[in-house]
Amino acid sequence: MMYFSINDLVRENIKKLVPYSSARDEFSGEANIYLDANENSLGSPFGKEGIGFRSAYNRYPDPLQVKIKEKLSFIKKVPVENIFLGNGSDECIDILYRAFCNPGKDNVIICPPTYGMYQVSADINDVEVRKAVLLENFQLDLVHMENLVDDFTKIIWLCSPNNPTANSLYREDIETVLNNFPGIVVIDEAYINFSRHRSFIQELAEYPNLVILQTLSKAWGLAGLRLGMAFADKAIIDIYNKIKPPYNIGQATQDIVIKALDNLDDVNEMIKILVAEREALAAVLSELPQVVKIYPSDTNFLLVKVAAARKMYEYLLTQGIVVRDRSNVQLCQGCLRITVGTPDENKALISSMKRFTA
Ligand SMILES: *Cc1c(COP(=O)(O)O)cnc(C)c1O
Repeated sequence: MMYFSINDLVRENIKKLVPYSSARDEFSGEANIYLDANENSLGSPFGKEGIGFRSAYNRYPDPLQVKIKEKLSFIKKVPVENIFLGNGSDECIDILYRAFCNPGKDNVIICPPTYGMYQVSADINDVEVRKAVLLENFQLDLVHMENLVDDFTKIIWLCSPNNPTANSLYREDIETVLNNFPGIVVIDEAYINFSRHRSFIQELAEYPNLVILQTLSKAWGLAGLRLGMAFADKAIIDIYNKIKPPYNIGQATQDIVIKALDNLDDVNEMIKILVAEREALAAVLSELPQVVKIYPSDTNFLLVKVAAARKMYEYLLTQGIVVRDRSNVQLCQGCLRITVGTPDENKALISSMKRFTA
């Protein structure tokens, strides 16, 4: 077994940190009269009808979002103590930097082309980013990664299925990283619901250094609410909770998420439709003369290599269709990233692309 100690890894200031203790931390039972948090005792200004699921939002929300976590625990088959909820995955990413990376001293490894926030969050926190570019087949360059690791490497960021390349990383490669790197290994599984490969979430007990990120922004159709999830060993979740702002998930978000989590069948239905649309869209687009290549996708988008990417992008804009131009991204030259839309949106995309001539 590789030696791994969370205590050796976490920053000294975080180890010593005395976290803010909110009114709701100090009293979490039931009472009739709450005069402990300087809220407005009279209510919220929504008129007589109120709004949504409750008529008032004048009280601070549950800091640890226990009701959401209990539902997620059931859905994901992970104990509540292994779940952290953030204001989007962005917050789950940022807190890891603040927990483990000393600014100006420590470094992390990312594997481009990949999700942009790992780099942005590092830059904000003044943490060095070392890049092990993916191989031509969009898989990990394990030799390069090993060469980049030194005593100051705290986090390795993996994204699988990866954005923007759409593929899943080889499971054995991820296991190699988990078994040999004595720092934090993050697997961002934002697109896992669209993948034919299984999540690492049932492997949590085996890897004290593993953090899995998921989100309600993609398959769950709740990007507007901002709810990201981190799953990890309790020692890592405790650090997350120590650092996070006391009330990082608002009451309105909590109310709506609790309702949505009861409708897993709706989500599974949408996933089925989107995956079928993805395959159909890929089949039709691959026949177009304007299309050079469609990469296999385990996500709800397609990475499409076209003959004249920038011109195609601009033409689609004139048709009222926005896709993502990735043609300047390393290993993605000539590529557009296209989200799978509704059946009608996909038809409109196909006919616009057919009409385009460079
Ligand atoms: C979309 C996406 C997310 C989601 O971020 P949120 O802040 O939860 O909306 C996370 N990781 C990757 C790779 C993504 O593409």
